[in-house]
Amino acid sequence: MMRLPSLQWAAPRTLTELTTRLAADPASTKLLAGGTDLIPNLKRRHQHARQLLWIGKISELQGIQPEASGEVSLGASTTLTAITRSDHLRRHYPGLVRAVASISSPVLRNMGTIGGNLCLDTRCTYYNQSEEWRRSIDYCLKEAGDTCWVAPGSPRCWAISASDSAPLLAAIGAKVSLHSVAGEREIDVEKLFVDDGIQYLAKRPDEVLTRIRLPAVSHSRSTYWKLRRRHSIDFPVLGVGAMVASDGGGRITAARVFLGAVASAPLSVDTSALLGQLPTEELVHTVAERARDLATPLDNTDFTLQWRRRMVHSYVDGALRELCGLPAKVVAPREGRFAIEV
Ligand SMILES: Cc1cc2nc3c(=O)[nH]c(=O)nc-3n(C[C@H](O)[C@H](O)[C@H](O)COP(=O)(O)OP(=O)(O)OC[C@H]3O[C@@H](n4cnc5c(N)ncnc54)[C@H](O)[C@@H]3O)c2cc1C
Ligand code: SF4
Repeated sequence: MMRLPSLQWAAPRTLTELTTRLAADPASTKLLAGGTDLIPNLKRRHQHARQLLWIGKISELQGIQPEASGEVSLGASTTLTAITRSDHLRRHYPGLVRAVASISSPVLRNMGTIGGNLCLDTRCTYYNQSEEWRRSIDYCLKEAGDTCWVAPGSPRCWAISASDSAPLLAAIGAKVSLHSVAGEREIDVEKLFVDDGIQYLAKRPDEVLTRIRLPAVSHSRSTYWKLRRRHSIDFPVLGVGAMVASDGGGRITAARVFLGAVASAPLSVDTSALLGQLPTEELVHTVAERARDLATPLDNTDFTLQWRRRMVHSYVDGALRELCGLPAKVVAPREGRFAIEV
C-alpha cells in the first residue's frame, strides 16, 4: 500500500491567512485543492512537502460568477463537476465544458478543481511510475538525477503539459489572478506556463491561483478535441483547444488554437491565414499543416510519436471545420469513441 509521508496539515479560512502561511515557507509547502493529482504524487514520492494547506474552505476561491460585462469569474476551487453542470457555462462556453467533462472520471471530477487542473504536474512515461521502478533505472532530471531518459544528453526535461483545460482556456483568451502577500497580478492563461517539464509554471511558489476570468463571448465559438487511448478515463496524448470569432458577414475576426500534451506548455498555433477571410477547407488545411509542423512530440507518453504528430493535423483540421461550419472529415471525439473518418 502506498502511504503518505508524515506531513503538517492546516485549512486556512481566508485568503490573507493562506498567503501569510504560504509566505512563511513556500519551498516546502504545497496547496491542496481536490488532491486528485497531489496526493498520489506525494504517495509515490514524485512531489515532496512538509506542510499541506487545504484551500477548500476559502470563500474567495469559490463560485462561478457571471459579470455585467459578460465576463465570468471562476473561483480556482470550483470543482470540475460544478463547471460541467453550470447552465451558464454550458450555454456560453461549450468548449470549456467539453474539455472539463473529458478530465479523468466522474468521481475524480467531484473532487478535482479547475485551479488544480491548471497547476497540474507535467507527465512522462519515465516519471509517472512507482518509486521502485524509478529507482531501478535511476532517477531522471525531473527528480534531481542527471539524465533525461527520453532525450539522453538533453539539458532539460520534456515532460508534457497534460491539463485538458489549459489549451482551451488559452484559446478563448482567459486570464488568471495570482495572489501573494506582495499583492495581486493578472496574466493571460498561456503566460502561466513555461515550456520546461520541471519549472512548468510561471507562478511563484508563494503565489495562489485565485480566480480565472473568462472573456465575454460575442460572435465566437470554442471547442476541444482530445486524443487518448481509453475514453472512459485517460490523460490526453493530444488536446486541441480552438476558438473562432466571425463578423456578421461570416469573415473571421479572431482565431486561436492551442495544442496540449505535445510539449511542456500549451503551444500557440499560427492562425493568421484565417484572419479577415471567409473560412474555406484550404485555409483550415493550411492552419492544420502549421500545427503539425509546430508539434514535435517526444516518445514520453502513449502511442507512437509519429502517429501523434499526424493526429495533430487531423484534430486541428477537425476542430476548425467544426467551428467554421465546414463539412466534417472526421467526427468530433466524444465519450466512448475515437475521432472517426467519415
Ligand atoms: C486516474 C486519474 C486520471 C486523470 N485524468 C486526467 C485527465 O484526463 N485530464 C486532466 O487534465 N487531468 C487528469 N487527472 C489529474 C487531476 O485529477 C485533474 O487535473 C484535477 O483537475 C486536479 O485538480 P485537484 O483540485 O485535484 O488538484 P490537486 O491535486 O489538489 O493539486 C494539483 C496541483 O495544483 C496545485 N494547486 C491546486 N490548486 C491551486 C491553486 N488554487 N493555486 C496554486 N496551486 C494550486 C497543487 O499544489 C498541486 O501542485 C487525472 C488524475 C487521476 C488520478
Ligand atoms: S522528459 Fe526526461 S527528465 Fe523529464 S520526466 Fe521524462 S525522463 Fe525525466
